[in-house]
Amino acid sequence: YRLSEENRHLIATLSSKNQTLLEMNRELEAKIHARTHELAEANTRLAQLAVTDGLTGLYNHRHLHERLALECERSARNGLPLSLLMIDVDHFKFYNDHHGHPAGDEVLRQLARLLGEGRRANDVVARYGGEEFVLVLPDTDGEGAELFASKLREEVAAQTMTAEQGPFQVTISMGVAEYPQDSRDPSELIERADQALYRCKRGGRNCVMRWSKARTTGERPAA
Ligand code: GH3
Ligand code: MG
Ligand code: MG
Repeated sequence: YRLSEENRHLIATLSSKNQTLLEMNRELEAKIHARTHELAEANTRLAQLAVTDGLTGLYNHRHLHERLALECERSARNGLPLSLLMIDVDHFKFYNDHHGHPAGDEVLRQLARLLGEGRRANDVVARYGGEEFVLVLPDTDGEGAELFASKLREEVAAQTMTAEQGPFQVTISMGVAEYPQDSRDPSELIERADQALYRCKRGGRNCVMRWSKARTTGERPAA
């Protein structure tokens, strides 16, 4: 009888210890699950940060180059053109000098919002650097991109920005180039959009210029 009692007691103790172990295991699994989730979220945030410009929230310079290479590759494969807009704020140094850099930063943020709004899902909107932005428009030829850029130019010029110093207007100039008609590869595409942009600046600013026109006709940029 005593042995049988001891046996029952041992079985009860073992079973209770087993139960405790199972609960500990469940808690451990829940903790691991929560940590894995936190880690995955942190990784997503990190990946997002790595491609984002800190001031404007647009894509950064590095990501722009990666996406542009991919989009040019896709364009070459499917035979559809793509266009690139190189955008530069007119007389921005003057604005900074008069209102200060924090106010200038706010202008860049508002402009970035405007550039990013209502774009197609596969368009790439990036801050190239300083007060320069780039728009990559897949499946869009140079004529289409020029038209689009002209509307964007008007939209920006008509927009009243808000700053501590009161409302004010900014204008932008844009150089447009198409792949593959105006350029053979991504770096030439950027270079030529940039050359067209400088024609705009020389022609008086607040305008749009396609590289092929700037080159062949020496035509004045279209406002
Ligand atoms: P242009 O019409 O010829 O483009 O004249 P601009 O004054 O815009 O051109 P410039 O290249 O001489 O000056 C660009 C200015 O942009 C210089 C700098 O003060 C300003 N800038 C560049 N990056 C930033 C930024 O992150 N924040 C602010 N607030 N200003 C910036
Ligand atoms: Mg500039
Ligand atoms: Mg400028």
